[in-house]
Amino acid sequence: MPAAAFAVAGEAERARILAKAALFAPPPATLDDGRKDIVGLSREELAAELAALGQPAFRARQIWHWIYHQGVTDFARMSTLARGLQRLLAEHFAILRPEITNVRESADGTRKFLFRFRDGEAVETVYIPDLEEERGAVCLSTQVGCTLSCRFCHTGTQPLARNLSASEIVGQFMAARDAYGEWPSPNGEARLLSNIVLMGMGEPLYNYEATARAVQIAMDGEGIALSRRRITLSTSGVVPMMDRCGAELGVNLAVSLHAVTDELRDELVPLNRKYPLAELMAACRRYPGSSNARRITFEYVMLDGVNDSDAEARELVRLIGGIPAKVNLIPFNPWPGSRFSPSPERRIARFAAIVREGGFAAPVRAPRGRDILAACGQLRTEVESRG
Ligand code: SAH
Ligand code: SF4
Repeated sequence: MPAAAFAVAGEAERARILAKAALFAPPPATLDDGRKDIVGLSREELAAELAALGQPAFRARQIWHWIYHQGVTDFARMSTLARGLQRLLAEHFAILRPEITNVRESADGTRKFLFRFRDGEAVETVYIPDLEEERGAVCLSTQVGCTLSCRFCHTGTQPLARNLSASEIVGQFMAARDAYGEWPSPNGEARLLSNIVLMGMGEPLYNYEATARAVQIAMDGEGIALSRRRITLSTSGVVPMMDRCGAELGVNLAVSLHAVTDELRDELVPLNRKYPLAELMAACRRYPGSSNARRITFEYVMLDGVNDSDAEARELVRLIGGIPAKVNLIPFNPWPGSRFSPSPERRIARFAAIVREGGFAAPVRAPRGRDILAACGQLRTEVESRG
């Protein structure tokens, strides 16, 4: 297909995906008491809201700084604003956070939060500290459940309840920061919560607009100020939205590959039937800014006897040939009722060696937080089943 035809086809497909996302919209930003959640508004929207209250544009900047740099959740603490204005804002707006309903910490420092939103829906968020340095990644969810039913994924067994709003997505990061006391946003690189990975529950590219807005807020230099190099979006391969994500956000991309033939990937990642490997690989090759310094990560969950042979490792090298990439080998994290087992360590080591001989870095992801069931979707289920 010529490039122009591809772009047009992509546009129609993107419109369809966005229309479907709208069917699973989160509750409105306005609360029962008439106040509006101010988190998740873009800077322009915040300025417009304030202008409607007769406030000059520079107020938006000040308030943005209080919310996203200082982490304040109470207008009364915005000490650069006059008391009257603080009261006016408190009448019209709220600075919402998801509510923490459960926290578990693993022996290795991984901490898992169960967050509940206003309508009672819940997701999990995991903080994974680096084992060597004083930093770590916060793994955010973008949907309650998922429509995609990947066979090895526990979230895939939970029907999509709804999409999260931008406030709820960036709010998970902010609430995690509350828990670690990491406010105001530290300047420079020394941060405990230093990275964001969009790898929790849900498919971020099926909730693109809210995800993009949350990412843009996190990247804004006058607030949370995380560089795009520190944000990674993981997708199961929603090809048309990968193009938009690359053009608009330019964050690091992780692609959940898991199989090297359409036949097997159709089974493991059913989305492959819509966007098969050839299209997925073409989208990866188009992803802007990929270079040796900024490689695409291919995630590959190692399933015993299913996708872990030497031949598959060689085919993987061929498939991603020429793409600046690394391959993250993830030992399958079993969950109650799953039909797979993790590949044995020796098998993973052999697979990794072949991928490395092929010229790609192939780190094996250390299982983290096993003792607190840190695989996709598990804490939520555990709490639900307790009652
Ligand atoms: N929906 C997106 C992001 C969330 S899933 C995606 O699929 O990429 C994040 C990663 O966890 C994906 O690579 C997914 O394949 C992987 N994953 C899901 N369940 C897993 C399990 N039980 N063991 C190991 N990895 C798993
Ligand atoms: Fe959804 Fe990702 Fe799980 Fe697949 S792996 S079911 S896309 S959350």
